[in-house]
Amino acid sequence: MKTLVIGTGGTIATRRDPASGELGGRCDAEEICARLPAPLSSELECINYRNVASMEIGPSDVLAIVQLLREKIADDGVDAAIIMHGTDTLEESAYLCDILWDLSEPVVFTGAMRGGGLLGEDGIRNLQASLAVVQCEESVGRGVQVVLNDEIHRAWDATKGHSLNPAAFISPRSGIAGEVWLDDVVYYGPAHARHTIETDVLDTRVDLIRTVTGMGVHHVEASMQAGASGIVIEGAGTGAVPGDILAGLQAAVKQGLAVTVTTRCLQGPAPFWPESRDRMSQLFSGGLLSGPKARLRLMAALGKYPDMEDVRTAFERGGKYGC
Ligand code: ASP
Repeated sequence: MKTLVIGTGGTIATRRDPASGELGGRCDAEEICARLPAPLSSELECINYRNVASMEIGPSDVLAIVQLLREKIADDGVDAAIIMHGTDTLEESAYLCDILWDLSEPVVFTGAMRGGGLLGEDGIRNLQASLAVVQCEESVGRGVQVVLNDEIHRAWDATKGHSLNPAAFISPRSGIAGEVWLDDVVYYGPAHARHTIETDVLDTRVDLIRTVTGMGVHHVEASMQAGASGIVIEGAGTGAVPGDILAGLQAAVKQGLAVTVTTRCLQGPAPFWPESRDRMSQLFSGGLLSGPKARLRLMAALGKYPDMEDVRTAFERGGKYGC
């Protein structure tokens, strides 16, 4: 077994300076892996992709990482991968990777909430638990997962729910997929069907707009004027938006934009309005996806398909159950 460990930065790559006590130094992937307790049950190959805060990582980086994984699997005998990533945008990179990941080899995204050398640092344990997950036979075919705090989350649902606590990640819509008990990996159910979109082109001109009470239509108009090719609207409840915004979204559809409705609620699907289905029928359904995740799925669907009906089919196929 050979596991590729890719470093991108984030808190897992930070280290406290023993002299000053300051958290600032940045470790590369090899240095982080060297702190794993021996013996390791897999050969590791470490690559430093970048060493930055996760807000500096974007969709083009995920495309490059997926390309790198494919090459390593095809040419170098790699059969699993761990991506170390800052936790702030980890859920987005992990889900985009999951959308693109049509192979069966297990991929895990992990990070840390407490930096190296701090009391209660969690990065090395998260890495160790991730290694147990990617080496587990049952992880094959489950796509991309997120492992922190001994919990396994499906990438489509993983959400950073706390800004500081090491138990930061939650899966609000479906619950966790499993847990790591010391070295044992336990899944609570079978793998879901997955609906990937294999593309090496993303259309990043997709805006996310959150609905709040009393808001006007100017955000939608600004998106259209800026040349967006898609809009994801986070409605309230089951996807409710004010009437003038709905009119603005319908105008956007007429102009050829792909418009998707999700909910700003943490749980449940959107849109879900049996009584107004016709009125909303030109808008795509975000299903169980959060706004940020729907945005990524729409980027992939728009990047792959020129025809809007194909975009809709590829987008909505994954929305219902998220994956
Ligand atoms: N600021 C960090 C980041 O790169 C936070 C973390 O890694 O936990 O996302």
